Amino acid sequence: QVKESGRNAIAFFNENMAYAVKNQLVLEGELHRAVEEKQFELMYQPKVDVQTGTLTGAEALLRWHHPERGLVSPALFIGALESSGLIVDLGQWILEEACQKLTLWQKLGLWHTGMRLSVNISPRQFRRTEFVDDVKTTLRNKPYLKGALDMEITESVVIGNIDETVSIMHELCDAGLSFSLDDFGTGYSSISYLKRLPVSTLKIDKSFVRDIRVDRNDKVLVETMASMGRHLGLTVVAEGVEEQEQLTLIKEFGCDEYQGFYFGQAIPADDFAHVLKSSCKTAV
Ligand code: C2E
Ligand code: MG
Ligand code: MG
Ligand code: MG
Repeated sequence: QVKESGRNAIAFFNENMAYAVKNQLVLEGELHRAVEEKQFELMYQPKVDVQTGTLTGAEALLRWHHPERGLVSPALFIGALESSGLIVDLGQWILEEACQKLTLWQKLGLWHTGMRLSVNISPRQFRRTEFVDDVKTTLRNKPYLKGALDMEITESVVIGNIDETVSIMHELCDAGLSFSLDDFGTGYSSISYLKRLPVSTLKIDKSFVRDIRVDRNDKVLVETMASMGRHLGLTVVAEGVEEQEQLTLIKEFGCDEYQGFYFGQAIPADDFAHVLKSSCKTAV
């Protein structure tokens, strides 16, 4: 009996693996086509000042308009973009697209000094030898983007070579960019990287914020991360704020900014321009 169930377990495992591999191949095929047929769009999620409730910028988030399945969340395909290498070209498109929108919003007078637009950079993209040159080329003749563009990275960009990572980041900081450490607290060595990487912002992962009202551990962790970030002179952003009570707590803990469904989810560029416009009116 033991043998039998053992064999079954193995067969089950293999079938699941085969299924996963097949799915992965189908997905990669679809993604290739999606790149060719430009089925991607960037949407923008507002970032908000915790104290004043005013806009501090936005994070550009990738969306895939799948011909049959509709709008697909990046959680389901970022991994495949990364493993297939498609993220390299698409990542460059994401950067250019975000810069183009930023240029437009600045020209329309909707983008105030001090506001930042963040773009997520994948490890594979960051580690390419051409990365720095490509970014500099994208920024060439656009001095107005200086100080307005931010790159969100996770600790997985480091992969063993911290010195090289630090020097790439310094070179890009010199070109006018800033960096945020994304998904803080979810990795293996967040704190040691925080010490070494030239980041100006720490983003507390939404998995800590979610149960902050009811889970005492989460509450302590968010409070501690916020305090650590503040003492290191960083801007602290809380991700995934969905309710007033969470906002009250992160305010109490000294977070500078938040992002979350409580203020708004990621929306198309034109809609975000309207948000910018109405925030200009309230500011006047
Ligand atoms: P992330 O960079 O940590 O982005 C934040 C995610 O949290 C976004 O999911 C956002 O929609 C979601 N979020 C924001 N507020 C709330 C909230 O109040 N509640 C909940 N439940 N979720 C909230 P999204 O857009 O599905 O993206 C998932 C991940 O995919 C991102 O996590 C990022 O790692 C990756 N990603 C998205 N766009 C890009 C991109 O352009 N390039 C790269 N390389 N990765 C991207
Ligand atoms: Mg991010
Ligand atoms: Mg994040
Ligand atoms: Mg995340």
